[in-house]
Amino acid sequence: MSSLELDEMAVSERGPNLDIVIAGGGLAGLALALALQHRDIEAHVFECHPYFKSDTATAIGIGPNGVTALEGIKPGLSSIISQAGSYTNSIIFNLLRNGKEDPPRVTNMPPKEYINVRWKSVQEILASLLDNNKIVFSHKFIGYRPSKGGVEAYFRCGNGLDRIKVVWTKLLIGADGIWSTVRKQMVADPPRYLNMVDWNALLYNPDLKVYQGIRRGEVIVRSEENMQVHSITAHAGDYTLWILRKKDESEDLANSLVGGRGGLGIPGCKARALKQLDGLEGWDSLREAIDVTSEDTISERKIMDRLPLDKWSDADGHVLLIGDAAHAQYVGPGQGARTAFEDAHQLSLLLQHASHSSFSEESIRDAVKRFEELRIPRMKKMQQYAAYSTRLPKFQPEGFQNLTTEERMRMGEEYMKWVHSYPHRQECDPNSTYFK
Ligand SMILES: Cc1cc2nc3c(=O)[nH]c(=O)nc-3n(C[C@H](O)[C@H](O)[C@H](O)COP(=O)(O)OP(=O)(O)OC[C@H]3O[C@@H](n4cnc5c(N)ncnc54)[C@H](O)[C@@H]3O)c2cc1C
Repeated sequence: MSSLELDEMAVSERGPNLDIVIAGGGLAGLALALALQHRDIEAHVFECHPYFKSDTATAIGIGPNGVTALEGIKPGLSSIISQAGSYTNSIIFNLLRNGKEDPPRVTNMPPKEYINVRWKSVQEILASLLDNNKIVFSHKFIGYRPSKGGVEAYFRCGNGLDRIKVVWTKLLIGADGIWSTVRKQMVADPPRYLNMVDWNALLYNPDLKVYQGIRRGEVIVRSEENMQVHSITAHAGDYTLWILRKKDESEDLANSLVGGRGGLGIPGCKARALKQLDGLEGWDSLREAIDVTSEDTISERKIMDRLPLDKWSDADGHVLLIGDAAHAQYVGPGQGARTAFEDAHQLSLLLQHASHSSFSEESIRDAVKRFEELRIPRMKKMQQYAAYSTRLPKFQPEGFQNLTTEERMRMGEEYMKWVHSYPHRQECDPNSTYFK
């Protein structure tokens, strides 16, 4: 919403003046609030929904950079989260060529380094560690405008979201996800469709009795040689995650999704997921996982990302994007939540410094500037690598195309080494070929 449109809004209420306001109670917003609380800094999270979503049909894999960031947010946090999920011991890669399976490639993981956990459990844990009054529900952020020494943040609030509340703050954080309203006002660029549709669900499978196609600590990745169909099955504590991904270069699948985006439990989604496997050999195990899953827990949606930005701040450093709002990337490399935790960790350290000057304008501007210097170069490279891993040439950045198998392997190894070395060499790895 523009400043002019905000001018015309009939404001029902003025909230208190706050040092830090976070729009969005997803993983990025809650992790930041917790990291700040741990450093004795007040921040309030404004979430548009009246309560947290009952389910998101997703589990997240948290690797070494995510674990380090969680420990930086609050010591002991990664082990609390790991208890709600499970550690990954091995990843099994199955490649299918004309219905025949290549011998599986198995990567054994270092012990206790990779956690697989239900997305919702992570959200609940972060929220439970925050003081009671830190999360404000039913507040939908709609716009901001500069105001002396900070910005005014506008929210629709109340049960019917029919009242307008204005809150003045020194720093507004846009942690409102890939469809970010904060980013819409700041940049106005839309999310990008990556020509893939996902069906995914979390199956309650505590003793691995409901579905036995997976063992404890396992992740199974299965792909057709042409990558038209790709799947991930993972053990995540009491749950089994399955994801079925289908390429959609014609965009016919996307155009047939309800509301143009899809959603959770849409009637017919189970049959549509199974239809993607019609005529394919070697997919019985995934068919079985889909069969035993209740349709109302299946998510069906387009895969999107965001193009990298040169700037994540606005209003002279009083507004800043983090998480998916700043750098949503293709989910393939599984770095969205991990990098949201990195953002929360790094920003809390910089704001801790600013708190020593009582959040003077200059100290906030410095913190925001330094945050962008540290994080934007890293996220640009990670977003590019993620776009490269779509294997769709139209999304692959220049310099990442036409690589030989050896070059691809080298790039993958360099990527893991660099990303996992967080918080060291955040911006780049000067010793690498692809991430300098
Ligand atoms: C199938 C799948 C698998 C994934 N696997 C992994 C993985 O293995 N590893 C990994 O690290 N990441 C993974 N991710 C990515 C990860 O889940 C996201 O990157 C992460 O959740 C982003 O967090 P966020 O807080 O930035 O955004 P979101 O989680 O989208 O949260 C945004 C929040 O803002 C709220 N909101 C939106 N608009 C407004 C508004 N106007 N006002 C107030 N509130 C608002 C929303 O309700 C929501 O609560 C996966 C994602 C998917 C879908």
